[in-house]
Amino acid sequence: MKIVCLDLEGVLVPEIWVGLAERTGIEELRATTRDVPDYDQLMRQRLRILHRHGLGMEALREVIDSVSPFPGAREFVDWFRERYQLVILSDTFYEFGRPIMRQLGWPTLFCHELEADADGRIVDYHLRMPDHKRAAVAAFQQLNFRVTAAGDSYNDVGMLSQAETGILFAPPQNVVDDFPQFPVTRDYEALRNAIEAASSE
Ligand SMILES: [Mg+2]
Repeated sequence: MKIVCLDLEGVLVPEIWVGLAERTGIEELRATTRDVPDYDQLMRQRLRILHRHGLGMEALREVIDSVSPFPGAREFVDWFRERYQLVILSDTFYEFGRPIMRQLGWPTLFCHELEADADGRIVDYHLRMPDHKRAAVAAFQQLNFRVTAAGDSYNDVGMLSQAETGILFAPPQNVVDDFPQFPVTRDYEALRNAIEAASSE
């Protein structure tokens, strides 16, 4: 039996923090794991910027509500769920993920949590565990599943390496250059074909 693990941002929806930068006009929020590979460093930077601009959970929710999946993403997810066990492994937060999961038909999502104070100020974030994408794939393998994983960025490399098959989807060139061992796909049809080919091995 096969589990397919997909990254969320950059694969099924645009980068949420980039959307936030566009909608708020705060250019510094544009940085993603594509730019800052150290996730904790990136998150601390994001929380500092939000505080400086007085942006709390409520403002973020409004932005997230306006984020739509990429064209074809819902159909892509539906196609997988008829054929495989699909789990979305993301470094986003449930507070952001839920409205997006609604638009994708509520696939299973493993991600992290934000912590807000009584005034809605985001005071911290909580990773379920370090490198959870890799750990999730390893745990599925312990349960005798074979795993195919696809993602676009540095924070996916752990799960792509751990999976029986790891595939890059629409990655930036620096990721392609740094990790030439992974095949590269650039649209849903190519990714679907690559995952099907891996499953028939
Ligand atoms: Mg991504």
